[in-house]
Amino acid sequence: MQIAFDQVSHIYGKGTPFEKRALSDISLTIPSGAYVGIIGQTGSGKSTLIQHLNGLLLPTSGSIRVGDWEITPGTKLTPAFRRHIGIVFQYPEHQLFEETIAKDVAYGPMQFGVPAAETEQRVEQALATVGLSYAEMKDRSPFRLSGGQMRRVAIAGVLAMEPSVLVLDEPTAGLDPAGRQAILEAIYDIHKERRLTTIMVTHSMEEAARYADWLIVMAGGQIALQGTPQDVFADSDRLHELSLDVPETVSFIRQLNNRLPQDKQIPLSLYRE
Ligand code: ADP
Repeated sequence: MQIAFDQVSHIYGKGTPFEKRALSDISLTIPSGAYVGIIGQTGSGKSTLIQHLNGLLLPTSGSIRVGDWEITPGTKLTPAFRRHIGIVFQYPEHQLFEETIAKDVAYGPMQFGVPAAETEQRVEQALATVGLSYAEMKDRSPFRLSGGQMRRVAIAGVLAMEPSVLVLDEPTAGLDPAGRQAILEAIYDIHKERRLTTIMVTHSMEEAARYADWLIVMAGGQIALQGTPQDVFADSDRLHELSLDVPETVSFIRQLNNRLPQDKQIPLSLYRE
């Protein structure tokens, strides 16, 4: 599903003493099947941006096209639309609540009236996709899992809705390096297998660059920089101006280059040993 923002601005609490402009004139296009990383410091507008994708927030001005839907300041969105946009919020495991893992993952499809047999299939598949065995997990309590496993269950719950777009807000926050890697690999596999349009918010340039094929760097509610990882990394001066945690090591750039065709590789001379 293609997504296009046309001059979107968002002001929280407009007309109140607490008025806060969080997005200014954002225009961007995300082609169907892309994997986009949204990077930026805390407060740069990343969460506000993604909440416009399923109408949790409406633009104060401007419009957003998601597939055939158009979202404008006055739009009333239907559940049929929301179902297409799977959003995994920060610390999604805090929203687990059912007594078994199977019931938790099934919650979304059941709410949307998906028949029980199909729901069960979806639950099984969604758990397998995030690397968990249905047979082993289905009757267990989600609250007795490790942090990383709980997060996988929460992501499976979103996948069971079979969304057309998958949006993840800091999916690796608070996990150890092995847990982070496992989650990122699982997301990348889902994206590849289903050609699922994937949007990942992160404050880590490294995580974004490793998996995404397009990066959007936010600063002060605007797009400060966007392009392929190699374009963005090549602009190291701008990245420094934006004070982002740029992984400057040659070893990181080498690893990134391993995934890129020869003509798209980042010159190592830009980075220090
Ligand atoms: P990020 O996700 O990059 O950390 P946010 O989108 O959360 O950024 O925030 C962008 C700006 O909007 C920040 O200045 C933040 O303080 C402000 N903001 C976020 N949510 C609200 C809210 N509900 N009410 C008022 N201001 C908000």
